[in-house]
Parts: sequence; structure tokens; C-alpha cells
Amino acid sequence: TKLSLAALSSLPANVAYPRYERGALTPGILHFGVGNFHRAHQAVYLDDLFNAGLGHDWALVGAGVFDGEKAGRDKLAQQDWLTTIVEQDEEKRSARVTGSMIDFVAPADASAIIARLADPAIRIVSMTITEGGYFIDPASGVFDPKHPHIAADAGNPAGPKTVFGLILAGLVRRRAAGIKPFTVMSCDNIPHNGRVTADGVIGLASLIDPDLAAWVRDHVAFPNSMVDRITPATSDRERAILADEFGVDDAWPVFCEPFRQWVLEDRFTDGRPPLEKVGVQFVPDVSPYEVMKIRILNGGHAAIAYPAGLMDIHFVHEAMQEPLVRGFLDKIEHDEIIPEVPPVPDTDLEDYYRLIDKRFANPRIGDTVRRLCLDGSNRQPKFIIPTIADRLKGGRPVQGLALESALWCRYCFGETDSGAVIEPNDPNWDRMQATAVAARDNPSAWLTMDDIYGDVGRSQVFAKAFAHALKTLWAHGARETLTRYLAGRL
Ligand code: NAD
Repeated sequence: TKLSLAALSSLPANVAYPRYERGALTPGILHFGVGNFHRAHQAVYLDDLFNAGLGHDWALVGAGVFDGEKAGRDKLAQQDWLTTIVEQDEEKRSARVTGSMIDFVAPADASAIIARLADPAIRIVSMTITEGGYFIDPASGVFDPKHPHIAADAGNPAGPKTVFGLILAGLVRRRAAGIKPFTVMSCDNIPHNGRVTADGVIGLASLIDPDLAAWVRDHVAFPNSMVDRITPATSDRERAILADEFGVDDAWPVFCEPFRQWVLEDRFTDGRPPLEKVGVQFVPDVSPYEVMKIRILNGGHAAIAYPAGLMDIHFVHEAMQEPLVRGFLDKIEHDEIIPEVPPVPDTDLEDYYRLIDKRFANPRIGDTVRRLCLDGSNRQPKFIIPTIADRLKGGRPVQGLALESALWCRYCFGETDSGAVIEPNDPNWDRMQATAVAARDNPSAWLTMDDIYGDVGRSQVFAKAFAHALKTLWAHGARETLTRYLAGRL
């Protein structure tokens, strides 16, 4: 059955669909970055809420800043903005159609997007625009006002191209019209994502008008959040499984694990949906949760990604079946990552890690090693390097994390241990590859990427461990290097 609103009631019996009246929903949230994660996470929580008969004035409107997002928008438009979510654990798959998105503004059309942002019905603007979308200097974590895209928006505030420029233009309109400002809610994997977003919007505003910057600081809320659900990209494999097993023809379904978590600070300028009714945890301070998640889960993903990539392993669950990779994950988590994570309310970190180990090993999810290897230049400074910095400050050993860093560097050389070519897998691939080539003979070349490593790159202790790990990787390959590390012989 081709997915559409009209076809919902004739879907196969094993496919769940919205129990609320779709036409009665009204918009409340504008979301930038309608990719797979958003559709597996926020859109599902809202669908649960609407199914519970609550918050029907909080439906989603999609938005995007790139022309390239038109393709996704067209697919969703043809199926009345509906998305099929397939959840899968070891035992079974289940499918549900979600209906929480009701519209999608034309991508990259600044005037249409600003008009929507000025609509008083929109009370929250949320975003999943990737770790690289925030114009922050990776090493310092501080907004970079000199970025050319930000400079361009500062010079043309009425025709912005970035999410930050658009949000600001929307806020300016609302302020002039006496409409309450919306809340800006980042759902990206960035430590202190709310604060980072505030830095971006306020930083851009101060380039335009200091008075505007002060007004944003005083009147707009930017709650921090911790978001979690492993959500791979969609390929023909997923479309085929959905058609074969569930009889649904969806142009852009999302496959993900059953687990999901959302911890959010309760700071909203113009109300919010009652998300606590559907499992969202509201807390005064998200920091302990996000440090735990980003370091243990995202850092763990980084730890398995690069050795698996160098060993030509395709799927993440296959990486977890390889004892050297799983052993590396286990050792680096226990020896170096978990000890640097401060206590989290009502959470046992060892239990948290055990669950993550199980989630990574889920054989049905179809997550790829290549997806985890993507964008190290933006991810390592958030997922790995802060842990290294903490350990160095405390005088604690960094051998495992230095090896993780060396595996990333070795991967960016662009060739696996068997000699297979690694296609570009980072927005800054040319730079990463050139630096990795130089680092083969001169490992310290890698650590001089000051915007990525910051102080960690200047540490003699780290440089020594890194150089030894990288040299061993080049001389003996990832398998032998991991074998030595696990045996305490590296
Ligand atoms: P995706 O590629 O499916 O979607 C990313 C979206 O962001 C696309 O719409 C893209 O056009 C847009 N985008 C990219 N760069 C941008 C920029 N500079 N400015 C504005 N928009 C931009 O990826 P996804 O799986 O949906 O993941 C997106 C983000 O969600 C991740 O980077 C991460 O921060 C967060 N997240 C993802 C997962 C996951 O498992 N996939 C889990 C937790 C959090």
C-alpha cells in the first residue's frame, strides 16, 4: 500500500497508525533539519502525545536551509508528511506510521521561513542540524563570529541563509509585532547544546545590533537537552524490508532501535507540550546526563568505528561480534572514559554502559560503521577530546584514548588495512586526509590541528602515546595493535 492519509485505514493489521484526527492538529513547533533522527525521536514523542489525546496544538512544521532538502520534502509531501517508523530489537520488528508533522516550508526560501517563524502559533523552534551546524570553534567550544556564513548573514539580516540568521530574523519580526518570542530547542549531540545555540543566535545578533543581542539574551529561552536513539540512515534495504514484511510503500521510512531517551530542561518562553506524559524527563540541569551520554555512548561509537572501518567491517553489530573491537570498547570505557564521567542522578554508570553495549550489538538495526566514522573533525572534539583533557589535567594515563585518536587519524588516510579505498567521510575530508598523510611519518602533524585538539595537542604525554599508537598501526595494522593494547603490551 502506498502510504498516504487516505490509505491509513487500509494498511495491513500489523502496522499501527495515528488514532487522533490528523486534520484537527494545528502547528506549534517549527523544526530545522528534518532528517532521520528527528523523525525517530521528537516526532515519535509528539505522535505518542497526540495519540494520548493531548497537545494537538503542537504539531510539527518542517524547515531546512539547503536546496538539497527539497528531495526529502517532496517524498514526505507525496505521503501527506507521514513517516513509517520501524523499531527493531533482537526478536522482532514493529512498524507504526506517525502523523505529528503536518507541513514543511519550502527549503532555503528565507522569506517563507521567516514568515512562519513570525507566526504566533509557532511557539518552539527546534533543530537537529548536525554537530557541524553550529559555527563553533571546535577546540574552545565558543561561537565563531568570523565564519564566512555568519559574516554573510550579519551583512544581510533580511535575507539570511543559516539557521541562526533565520531564527534571528524571525525573532526580530516578533519583537516588532509584540509577539512573544519562541523557545529555541536544540536536539543535537553537542555538550550544552542550548547554551551553544544561544551563543550562536546572540553572537550573530551582536554583530547586527547590540540592543537586539541584549533583548535575545533577556527574552529567549534555550533549554539544554540530552537526546538518544540510535537511528541509521535509510537505504533501499530499509524500503525493501518495509514493503516485504509490512506491505507499506514509504518513500522515506526510518528504522531505529526500540530504546529512546530525552532529558530536557524546563525553560520555555511561550509554553510547551506536556511531554512529561510520554516519557520525557524534565530536569533542572541536563549537564550530567549529556556528559554521560556523549562520552559513554557517542565516545563509545567513535571507539568502535575506526578500528572496524580499518578492518573493512560494514555493520556496527558485526563490529561488536569482533572480539578485538568489542574488547577495545570495553577496556577504553572502563579504564579511561567512565572514570571521567561525574555522577548522574538515579543512574548507575556501569548499568548504563551495559545497556549501550547491548544496543550497539543489536543485529537487526542495520547501523553502519561508515555512519559512525562520519565527520570526526566535528565529533571528536565533542565526544573524545574533552575526556582526554580531563585525564591529562588529573595526571591519569591516556593510552587507550591516544590509540582511539590514532585510529581516527589512520582512517583519515583514506585506505583500510587491506588497501581498500575509504571514500571521503568528513565535511573537511581533504584537510583531514592531507594531514593524515603527513602524520604517517610525522605523527605530531596531526596534533597541530589546534582547532580540533586545543591544549590536548600541546601535551607531551599525549603526543608520545599518540605517536607510538600511530606508528604501531602503520607497522602492524589495527588487529595486531588492538591485540597488543588488550594484552597490556602496546
Ligand atoms: P540526517 O543526515 O538524516 O539529517 C540531518 C539534517 O540536518 C538534514 O536535514 C540536513 O540537511 C540538516 N543539516 C546538515 N547540516 C546543516 C547545517 N549546517 N545547517 C542546517 N541544517 C543542516 O542526520 P540525523 O541522523 O537526522 O542526525 C542529525 C543530528 O541529530 C546528528 O548530527 C546528531 O546531532 C543528532 N542525533 C542523531 C542521532 C542518530 O542516531 N542518528 C542520535 C542522537 C542525536
